[in-house]
Amino acid sequence: MEYKQEHKPIIKVSDLTRYMLCPRLVYFSARGHEQGGIAKGKEKSVIENILLKELAFNLHKIYGGEDEEGEGDETEADAKRVIEDVADGVEWIYREELKGVEKDFFEAVKRDFVCSMGNDEWLEKVRNENELLKLEKAEGYEREHTTVSEKLSMSGSVDKLIRTGEEVIPCMIKTGKCPEYSVWRSDRVQLAAYAMLIEDEFETTVKRGIVEYIRTAEFRESQIRRRDKALALQILKQVKRIKGGVFPEKGENAPCDNCVFEEMCDTKKTLLSKLFGK
Ligand code: SF4
Repeated sequence: MEYKQEHKPIIKVSDLTRYMLCPRLVYFSARGHEQGGIAKGKEKSVIENILLKELAFNLHKIYGGEDEEGEGDETEADAKRVIEDVADGVEWIYREELKGVEKDFFEAVKRDFVCSMGNDEWLEKVRNENELLKLEKAEGYEREHTTVSEKLSMSGSVDKLIRTGEEVIPCMIKTGKCPEYSVWRSDRVQLAAYAMLIEDEFETTVKRGIVEYIRTAEFRESQIRRRDKALALQILKQVKRIKGGVFPEKGENAPCDNCVFEEMCDTKKTLLSKLFGK
């Protein structure tokens, strides 16, 4: 007898992170309610996050990298030059993401960014010997490495992938706040999801990952724990159910105040309350 191969939907790691913010975000996005372009009022933070992320991809030019004359970029002025170059390239690299942003507004955010970044304290932290920079200097990294795993029915694009002789190390760039110690729980789970994808692709064991909190130049290493992998798989299952049509509860710390789905979410709740008398 012939069995038809079942087509399993592939879930993105970004859906897992969205779920951790609020499961309903997965629901509404899956139903195509996401508006194209940048949500109103969010333009500045979106541009800043893009600038920060691109800066993280160019840190090697700041932490003692070499210029054309073969000398290291040592001064704050040199670093500012790198930051300016990064800012100038962003509109070409992120053309799609920045669609609809007014030129003058974009230039103003860019100017503020160049002025505020690269101060002495930030530079000192970037240039301090830390594990990420040591690894990057020695091995380099692959930018935005994408993996698809049929076995896991999951895919993802990790910001930086460092490969040493013995290890494959996923690194994520985060533009938000840095926790006092270690990395945020949601970042640990996201790293665990990438680790499983990489383990499947490279047939290896991923022992650790790194999170770059670029705004404050904090580079944190995190061990890949079994319990985080288990949680990532549990969330993967939930995401599949939601994509299949299940309307979930809202997240404990759901960011409703800044949510583009707020109106839709309220309407849906009212409808369900009417139906079930809740
Ligand atoms: S409004 Fe709140 S509960 Fe609804 S999707 Fe947005 S964050 Fe989640």
